[in-house]
Amino acid sequence: MKVFKTVAEVRAARAAVGELGLAPTMGFLHAGHLSLVERARAENPTVAATIFVNPTQFGPNEDLARYPRNLPRDLALLEAAGCDLVFTPEPAEIYPSGFDTTVSVGGVTEGLEGAVRPGHFAGVATVVAKLFNIIQPTRAYFGQKDAQQSVVIRKMVRDLNMPVEVVIAPTVREPDGLALSSRNSYLTPDQRARAPALFRALSAAKTAFDAGERDAEALRAAMGRELAGFTIDYVSIADAETLRELDRIDGPALASLAACLGTTRLIDNLPLN
Ligand code: AMP
Repeated sequence: MKVFKTVAEVRAARAAVGELGLAPTMGFLHAGHLSLVERARAENPTVAATIFVNPTQFGPNEDLARYPRNLPRDLALLEAAGCDLVFTPEPAEIYPSGFDTTVSVGGVTEGLEGAVRPGHFAGVATVVAKLFNIIQPTRAYFGQKDAQQSVVIRKMVRDLNMPVEVVIAPTVREPDGLALSSRNSYLTPDQRARAPALFRALSAAKTAFDAGERDAEALRAAMGRELAGFTIDYVSIADAETLRELDRIDGPALASLAACLGTTRLIDNLPLN
């Protein structure tokens, strides 16, 4: 496995191989990230991962400074998962002085995370567009865990005719249902014990949906009931493609939520099909 810090080096290594699968990450890797690398490994002759804590997708009051990092451990995990190339640039390599371009995706960025985190998806779309241009993956792998991010990336790729196939992999969970997240490391033992309520809330909506409930407000209420004691940013039943809030479900939909436990903000979702 080769590790690169500069655009020029990773470009040269990429140019020497054929089809390539890419898993972009912010590091502090867990089994969710590794599932993307393993899927890429199964579907591509060469696999690349990026580790870059992208400053432009964090708001001024968010957790950029304390975001967890452990590069030696991440590199060992990637090597064991069969990754071939790793790009782990410093911020100045991605945003040199004078950098002044933003990729702004409309519509699907307005609600949910976009409403609570202004500028977040512009940061995400811009860095992913750059990583696609630098590494030129044949296929790029993202997690369902960040459902709105997946919709935004797919829309950017479609709207800008980017020559990459976007693959969305299922959410990897702990045995008690908590979705794996680098941010779970912030939770105190007491908060960790309460965190599976997010999955219980989504499961309650899914159970009601599977039993035939199509009234979106009834599903939101079912989710809310499981989240007593949480500070809720949103509970949502939205169209799976446009991410607009629904009154009634009559096509593919997404149940999603964001809630805080103390200072830790967690998100999760379940598709309703
Ligand atoms: P992050 O490092 O949080 O930016 O995540 C990098 C990629 O891993 C994104 O495409 C995430 O959606 C994906 N990911 C994060 N957590 C999980 C999980 N529990 N299961 C599957 N994919 C995940």
